[in-house]
Amino acid sequence: MTHQLRIENLHVAVAGKPILQGVNLSMNQGDTHALMGPNGSGKSTLGMAIMGHPIYEVSEGSIFLDDQDLLAMAPDERARQGVFMAFQRPVAIPGVKMADFLRHATTNVRNPERKEGEELIPMADFRRELKDRMGQLQMELEFARRYVNDGFSGGEMKRAEILQLAMLQPKFAVLDETDSGLDADAVRLASESIAAIGGESMGLLIITHHDKLLVHNPPDFTHVMLGGRIVETGGPELARELHGEGYQRIRDAYPEAEAENQTMAEADTLVAVEPEN
Ligand code: ADP
Ligand code: MG
Repeated sequence: MTHQLRIENLHVAVAGKPILQGVNLSMNQGDTHALMGPNGSGKSTLGMAIMGHPIYEVSEGSIFLDDQDLLAMAPDERARQGVFMAFQRPVAIPGVKMADFLRHATTNVRNPERKEGEELIPMADFRRELKDRMGQLQMELEFARRYVNDGFSGGEMKRAEILQLAMLQPKFAVLDETDSGLDADAVRLASESIAAIGGESMGLLIITHHDKLLVHNPPDFTHVMLGGRIVETGGPELARELHGEGYQRIRDAYPEAEAENQTMAEADTLVAVEPEN
């Protein structure tokens, strides 16, 4: 069965401030969608709402994974059902090794009914799989012994996200600027890695400013967000146009959304996304 993720008329606010204003987007497993748009247009907010981050309040609309109501699920349940997000700014978990974190997460995704404390994937099986995946991604095994994102460089954080993607094999993945802060070689490696592990089995929503990430992952659809709406959808040629020429044509063509984008950018209260420790 081909799985489907359906976002319908989604309205999302942060601290009472409306951000997304009626987003519609449907994805099939196996498809690659590029999500583009100027800074502050609402791209990350859409990803956060798909994952169920609590500060992003859905005031209207729905998200379905096949016939399941995603909005009724807690974030960990969404992950268990096969929805994944590689964050633009991943959180560090000092004291928790990558390998242990991945073994837990992988077990939970493969056995969604598992209760905390129940058995994990056998160590030998997990090690073998981790080693294979890391080999495929040209990563040193030593990397898995480090604490999750603790003291990681920008590039290492992105690679850690890609390793999670490879191990968890979600049905749908949102990759939020998995290319930001990487040099050209690192972007190419990330792009190849995503193509190697994504393939037919995942639906990818790739939020990106760079065409490099799309070279190995040519989008079936390109969506442009402005002022909390998807104002245009096209094919790979739309991504190429925006990379080459920027957003001026879009800003001129959708003055209301552009005005909304400006208003959103002027608001100054930022709500902390990371939990207080
Ligand atoms: P993009 O990812 O397209 O750059 P975002 O989704 O991060 O855009 O932001 C869209 C708008 O929502 C911006 O105006 C931003 O200030 C606001 N916003 C997003 N996250 C927060 C937050 N945690 N607190 C306050 N405002 C936020
Ligand atoms: Mg963003």
